[in-house]
Amino acid sequence: MTKYVYLFTEGNGNMRELLGGKGANLAEMTNIGLPVPQGFTISTEACTKYYEDGRQINDEIMAQVMEYIVKLEEITGKKFGDLENPLLVSVRSGARASMPGMMDTILNLGLNEQVVDVIATKSNNPRWAWDCYRRFIQMYSDVVMEVGKKYFEELIDKMKAARGVTQDVELTADDLKELASQFKAEYKAKIGTDFPTDPKEQLIGAIKAVFRSWDNPRANVYRRDNDIPYSWGTAVNVQSMAFGNMGDDCGTGVAFTRDPATGEKGLFGEFLTNAQGEDVVAGVRTPMKIAEMEQKFPEAFAQFTQVCETLEKHYRDMQDMEFTVEHGKLYMLQTRNGKRTAQAAMKIACDLVDEGMRTPEEAVAMIDPRNLDTLLHPQFDPAALKAAEAIGKGLGASPGAACGKIVFTAEDAVEWHNRGEKVILVRLETSPEDISGMKSAEGILTVRGGMTSHAAVVARGMGECCVSGCGEIAMDEEHKRFTLAGKEFHEGDIISLDGSTGNIYDGAIPQVDADPNNGYFGRIMAWADEFKRMGVRTNADTPADAKKARELGAQGIGLCRTEHMFFGEGRIDAFREMICSETVEEREEALDIILPMQQSDFEALYEALEGYPVTIRFLDPPLHEFVPTTEIEIEKLANKKHKTVADIKNIISSLHEFNPMMGHRGCRLSVTYPEIAKMQTKAVIRAAINVKAKHPDWNIEPEIMIPLVGDVKELKFVKDIVVATADEEIKSAGSDIKYEVGTMIEIPRAALTADEIAANADFFCFGTNDLTQMTFGFSRDDAGKFLDAYYDKKIFEADPFAKLDQTGVGKLMKMAIDLGKPVNPNLHIGICGEHGGDPSSVEFCDAIGLDYVSCSPFRVPIARLAAAQAAIAHKK
Ligand code: ADP
Ligand code: MG
Ligand code: MG
Repeated sequence: MTKYVYLFTEGNGNMRELLGGKGANLAEMTNIGLPVPQGFTISTEACTKYYEDGRQINDEIMAQVMEYIVKLEEITGKKFGDLENPLLVSVRSGARASMPGMMDTILNLGLNEQVVDVIATKSNNPRWAWDCYRRFIQMYSDVVMEVGKKYFEELIDKMKAARGVTQDVELTADDLKELASQFKAEYKAKIGTDFPTDPKEQLIGAIKAVFRSWDNPRANVYRRDNDIPYSWGTAVNVQSMAFGNMGDDCGTGVAFTRDPATGEKGLFGEFLTNAQGEDVVAGVRTPMKIAEMEQKFPEAFAQFTQVCETLEKHYRDMQDMEFTVEHGKLYMLQTRNGKRTAQAAMKIACDLVDEGMRTPEEAVAMIDPRNLDTLLHPQFDPAALKAAEAIGKGLGASPGAACGKIVFTAEDAVEWHNRGEKVILVRLETSPEDISGMKSAEGILTVRGGMTSHAAVVARGMGECCVSGCGEIAMDEEHKRFTLAGKEFHEGDIISLDGSTGNIYDGAIPQVDADPNNGYFGRIMAWADEFKRMGVRTNADTPADAKKARELGAQGIGLCRTEHMFFGEGRIDAFREMICSETVEEREEALDIILPMQQSDFEALYEALEGYPVTIRFLDPPLHEFVPTTEIEIEKLANKKHKTVADIKNIISSLHEFNPMMGHRGCRLSVTYPEIAKMQTKAVIRAAINVKAKHPDWNIEPEIMIPLVGDVKELKFVKDIVVATADEEIKSAGSDIKYEVGTMIEIPRAALTADEIAANADFFCFGTNDLTQMTFGFSRDDAGKFLDAYYDKKIFEADPFAKLDQTGVGKLMKMAIDLGKPVNPNLHIGICGEHGGDPSSVEFCDAIGLDYVSCSPFRVPIARLAAAQAAIAHKK
């Protein structure tokens, strides 16, 4: 019999897979003797089973839940539905990886009309009792029955207006009682049945809702963004309640052991008296700073600081905790390794090493490579920022520099973003429904909410700039406008946000690139370079890109796409003349014009790389991509070539292909027009010889890469041309330069016959963009049209063009290595598809033994860190 349910005393912190993060940590806190309201966890396996069984909780699981209700009743001395001493619980979701705000918690479950009367009388605190009850109906309706929150919020607002008060806490017991019955009426109107009164029925409904929520659209989006597999499932935690809403000697709070925005050491958080659950986060009332809690609750505060220290030492990481104070007594409700900004992650990791809590290897392993992105993105130009005058100030909730056009709804943010606009999402406050809009925006500005508000937490998670709680803004969401500093702002107006200071600026402030080599970031990256086994190169076609990549730590160019060089000023004309030539002589004439240009481009690249390796890929795309499209350009070309416009149009239409991705491209171009390969070889070799002459101490050994090879004979054919041309160039220059000729592995047949190919290649480079499209048989330009349906139907969890398909495409890669290496032990092997900058794909590349990964310049630090983490994990 499978055990599906665990008391907190039966679990521990290492059981995340089974108990989820929250459940495992509740167990761990219980084990180390911290004050945790007791409860039990229904495992992630039960969730998986629920889905396997067609969204049913089977009898076995149900029986275990019932058994554990009895155990919990014994532990707490309370009973579900009891009129003497009723048990009230919270029902909380908790997956293996924390998914903040993704699934909602239900509090005070177990209440009904009779029980609420009992606790009202017994506690002599009817306000509290009715507050609990109305909250329960509200949360249960929202989460379990999916009756929108907003109807209940409206009823509360009406009630407050009728009573002439502004805060929830000002409502009396009678008001809350009245609200509870309005809520129930609302429930009945929407659902058609009475609100459930049996606590066990309530509990089963809640458990099912948690399981169900694993598959809601928000959770699915979050998982895809954060690489969390659908198969993990979520656990359910059923926990007896601690009450923060019993009066002014009660309250609830959230806190971090270090500042999640900057990493600064010290308690950081917020606390709200006479409140429950997410009140702090929801921004309904402005919470007090955690330090102020000391005056109001000296004992609980002292105990809490002690707990923080214990937890940080125990987990050896910054903790994010949730707690409640009931009549002055502290209860711990959650702890986890806190989410943090990229900046904070760097500082915390270094500090933990300095404090002796972590080794450098552990520090490197702690950092999520995907977060580095934000550190590399532009910051405000310090001079411009100094000169600018802020028009308002909120909390610097998530650092970064954002500048864009104002939008007022999440839908608008998505729509404008898709049109290519940069937008700032301005809201009263955000809620989980706004996730996609928040993602589409450059930055988020909210009127309400503190440092732990939804907007702040989610923005930090996304690495997006956020200024929260700017109360100076007079908001008019309905008419899409707000007033700040005496000025009215409308949709489309440009503002700038500084997520570090919380400053808001009218108009755009110029931005500059961030510096990745100094401070904590530099320290982490230096460690990463020390630990990684694979090299990290970059995909760069211009000296500017190459320089940027070098600054970001690239150790060479893994892919230079020569075709990008043909689009430049004065080049495309010559290239078009070449394409529209009818004889070899004509073509050679045009190529002669291009040769010196291409040569000087390569020289600039070699200069930029200062002796690091450069892989140059020969012309790859179908020629029709280069042909003129406008009448004027066609006429110009016709005149140049002494042909008629009709002749040129004929040539252009003859280049048309039904399926250009599988058409006349790659090495096939060199097979038809060997003179192109000849010209490119000359340009590479001459450039190398020239730069070597200037810098004799640099190691310059050109790597010429032949694309789209499917048959070894294709490679041999082109290679023979390259070798003959190169040797002649080297000989006539009296040089002794060495060079390599290798190939892309991007057609499945090349992987399948890699032994034959390896005998004729100095290196392999996996072009996983093409390899993915050819293996799946769908084009990367068209896949966008149906991939969404694939995600919805759970056929795909991730975009195979972004995250390497290890099962299929990965198997081809592995096969190519296994076939190729024995034939040619000197073969060096890399990857230059988009996957070279994706952390999970980089890990795979390390595991199958690649020598290097190559990615776009801004992803180089991500790849360095991911490569280090792979090597560290590998060693264990
Ligand atoms: P999330 O994963 O969204 O943080 P939680 O399950 O942590 O959701 O619940 C949200 C909040 O509900 C907690 O921070 C806490 O304030 C409150 N809460 C949950 N369980 C209890 C409980 N047993 N007693 C008191 N408050 C609780
Ligand atoms: Mg929540
Ligand atoms: Mg929580």
